[in-house]
Amino acid sequence: AKDSGRNAYKFFTPAMGEEAFKRMEMERALRYAIEKNQFKLLYQPQVELSSGRILGVEALLRWTHPEWGPISPSVFISLIENTNLILPIGEWVLDEACKQNKAWQALHPGFPLRMAVNFAARQFAQADLVETVAKALQKSGLAAEFLELEITEGSAMNDIELNIRKMQALKELGVSIAIDDFGTGFSSLAYLKRFPIDILKIDKSFLDEIQHGKKDAAIVATISEMAHSLGMEVIAEGVETKYQLEFLRGHGCDMIQGYLFSRPVPPEQIAEILQKGGK
Ligand code: C2E
Ligand code: CA
Ligand code: CA
Ligand code: CA
Repeated sequence: AKDSGRNAYKFFTPAMGEEAFKRMEMERALRYAIEKNQFKLLYQPQVELSSGRILGVEALLRWTHPEWGPISPSVFISLIENTNLILPIGEWVLDEACKQNKAWQALHPGFPLRMAVNFAARQFAQADLVETVAKALQKSGLAAEFLELEITEGSAMNDIELNIRKMQALKELGVSIAIDDFGTGFSSLAYLKRFPIDILKIDKSFLDEIQHGKKDAAIVATISEMAHSLGMEVIAEGVETKYQLEFLRGHGCDMIQGYLFSRPVPPEQIAEILQKGGK
């Protein structure tokens, strides 16, 4: 009884109350963030290892509140992903990313990029997902081959037969599908081979340790080898050091994304890279 009393007291500490209150306030503010133009997208280059050229970008959402300033994505994205707010906001991201990619292509027709857009589990689970994607392509005029959906292992695994059909419909549309944060879920490549997946993104957590841990190096090498044998492309994310770069080169990784090449940047800076021939 003493224990539960202490826990009950703990639950109502002012600090906890403040945090819950802050979360509610944020959620409220997020409902109006689209119409108030508080969102923007940054784009992080995805670079081909063999050529050093940018082949694609990942769109990353940013939110700046007029009073609170920029809010960390790790805070507000988990908030929206756990509510239906992710649906209108996710659609805004998709539309904006497609329009931006089309705009770069108009400026640099000889240098089309692939645009990767993150899809939360709740978005991927929508029955009208394929229509939503088709509509975004139609509205922007972007060709489907230049759009890639990043989903996580979790989104793919919860209703396997349904998700295979969904992915097939997306493939028929012409978009590519990437598995994000690969290796952090618990699905095996053997399972994933049933899905029409084009790209595996090896999670940053494995790269962090390759210099010190033999096991992580072996995991990265094995993921890369198996993905290739299944006909998938491999992207390593969170590449920060030359050591990681050389390791990845040695293991046939196709693309890298990370601070070593570039942080996520505003669209003008991607245009500048294209202007300079993609490097
Ligand atoms: P993610 O999809 O795994 O995106 C990669 C994250 O790693 C990004 O964080 C990126 O800025 C960061 N990153 C890239 N390279 C490096 C590096 O070399 N070192 C380090 N330390 N970090 C690196 P960000 O932008 O804070 O996004 C966090 C997460 O929020 C994303 O993780 C993604 O899950 C989610 N997110 C971002 N934008 C969207 C969106 O539009 N929709 C949805 N549903 N989720 C999004
Ligand atoms: Ca991602
Ligand atoms: Ca990721
Ligand atoms: Ca992640």
